Amino acid sequence: MNIILLGPPGAGKGTQAKLLESSRGMVQLSTGDMLRAEVKSGSALGARAKSLMEAGELVPDDLVIGIIANRIDEPDCRNGFILDGFPRTVAQAEALDQMLAEKKMDLDSVIEMKVDDKALTARITGRFTCAACGEGYHEEFKRPAKDGVCDKCGSTEFSRRKDDNAETVKSRLAAYHEQTAPILPYYEKKGLLRQVDGMASMEEVSRQIEAVLDEAAG
Ligand code: ADP
Ligand code: ADP
Ligand code: ZN
Repeated sequence: MNIILLGPPGAGKGTQAKLLESSRGMVQLSTGDMLRAEVKSGSALGARAKSLMEAGELVPDDLVIGIIANRIDEPDCRNGFILDGFPRTVAQAEALDQMLAEKKMDLDSVIEMKVDDKALTARITGRFTCAACGEGYHEEFKRPAKDGVCDKCGSTEFSRRKDDNAETVKSRLAAYHEQTAPILPYYEKKGLLRQVDGMASMEEVSRQIEAVLDEAAG
């Protein structure tokens, strides 16, 4: 099964994608993670993306479309993928459709995670991750069992994203409402759009997503 997790920054897409990787063996395709890896490696592509990402603006469509087109050809995607953070514009959604048609792949469901802007700011400014294994945490909503020690791997090194600050959040939310929200009617017309309550607990959101996937599987 191939799905899109759609929602504003901080909605919980990455959290739920990781849960689906373990429950269903699907693979998470996060354009944000891929772009951050490009920036870190110092590639030409990373250099094009860096300042836009730090300003909370979208990077050009051709850049992310190229990244996804390459990634989707990898054999692990045949077990099912979860698009996290892509598509983010109507042009990206159209390019995705074309790509999938060429590869004879299907899109089974587009799941919108609805969360209030106010809650998103708190989620983003409190977010941090384990620097060793990438496990996601939150200062208030998901603290490690033992302070300062990763539950998953025992590391004591954590990191925060440079763009996870109150000022950048404003531009990222504006980009979502102006450029990404218009893809909701695009998928609604195709009959693929489903909604879950992103304000609920991580466990409840996960149950709702699993129910959508069970229904899509028939
Ligand atoms: P996204 O990938 O959509 O930007 P994340 O999955 O990284 O969002 O979640 C943003 C932050 O909010 C993280 O710190 C995460 O631990 C926390 N979080 C995720 N889902 C929930 C939830 N349902 N309730 C409270 N906090 C959540
Ligand atoms: P979030 O967790 O807040 O949803 P992401 O990690 O998905 O954020 O994205 C971080 C940044 O990377 C975005 O603010 C944007 O600059 C860039 N980016 C990621 N995916 C895309 C995309 N599909 N199109 C354009 N820019 C993107
Ligand atoms: Zn860890």
